[in-house]
Amino acid sequence: MKLIIHGGFFSESDQSHEVKVAKQKSLKNIAQKAFEYLQSHSAFDTVAYAVSLLEDDPLYNAGIGSQIQSDGVIRMSAAIMNGETQKLSGVINIQNVKNPIFVAKDLITEDDRVLGGNGAKIYANENGFEDFSTEIPQRRKEYQEKLNNGGKGTVGCVAIDKDGKLAVATSTGGKGFEIPGRISDSATVAGNYANSFCAVSCTGVGEDIVSNATATKIVTRVTDGMTLENAFTKTFEELKAIDGFAGAIAIDKDGNIFHQDSYPTMVFASFDGENFEIFN
Ligand code: ASP
Repeated sequence: MKLIIHGGFFSESDQSHEVKVAKQKSLKNIAQKAFEYLQSHSAFDTVAYAVSLLEDDPLYNAGIGSQIQSDGVIRMSAAIMNGETQKLSGVINIQNVKNPIFVAKDLITEDDRVLGGNGAKIYANENGFEDFSTEIPQRRKEYQEKLNNGGKGTVGCVAIDKDGKLAVATSTGGKGFEIPGRISDSATVAGNYANSFCAVSCTGVGEDIVSNATATKIVTRVTDGMTLENAFTKTFEELKAIDGFAGAIAIDKDGNIFHQDSYPTMVFASFDGENFEIFN
């Protein structure tokens, strides 16, 4: 049993030391809670739970604390993928729910598993998700100042459970100041992908992640026999060739954990019950 989580990026130039310490503390706490949960739940249930805790923390740009788009509205995207069944479900540009990842998770049992915009919201309401504003004053202030540097803060979790099953979940409030209708990578197979060999969650500029097909490439390379590390190296070389900005976390079927970013510094933590690794 192992898991790794991410909370987007940290930038020394845009963010204070206090924010860094707060994120380290929060990630440690969430990784520990999620690991405890993993003792008695599947990887699939655990990744959703871990991502919901990250969504609930306003330090990150997902759920509460999401970025505001250019028209002043928050639209969030989230997806989950079960490595065993290879089913992905997700919501794209959903408004006014507290935990987009739980709406995404509920969709796994439907025939239509990725819903967008208003349809996603109607589905959420019909399935017991109450209206909830995820806006925090800090994001409104950034929006009003037209600062597009709130710090990338998509969240994600990859886990392997006691049966060796893999799963991944990813949730985002987007880049901030997007043209309404813009689609993030987080609810696509470029940003969130898993099979029985490997599971990967990404953060960064969605357009770069989609262009590079980052999560899909890493998983496919591992499936075809490459080591996790080599799959990351090759995929990030290709990302560099397009000057892409991304970070990714992963676990393979043998329980190897890996993470890499194209620009410093991805905010991540991993935990296997004994060893705790955290970004610095
Ligand atoms: N990947 C997200 C997006 O482009 C942003 C992020 O990772 O913070 O919507």
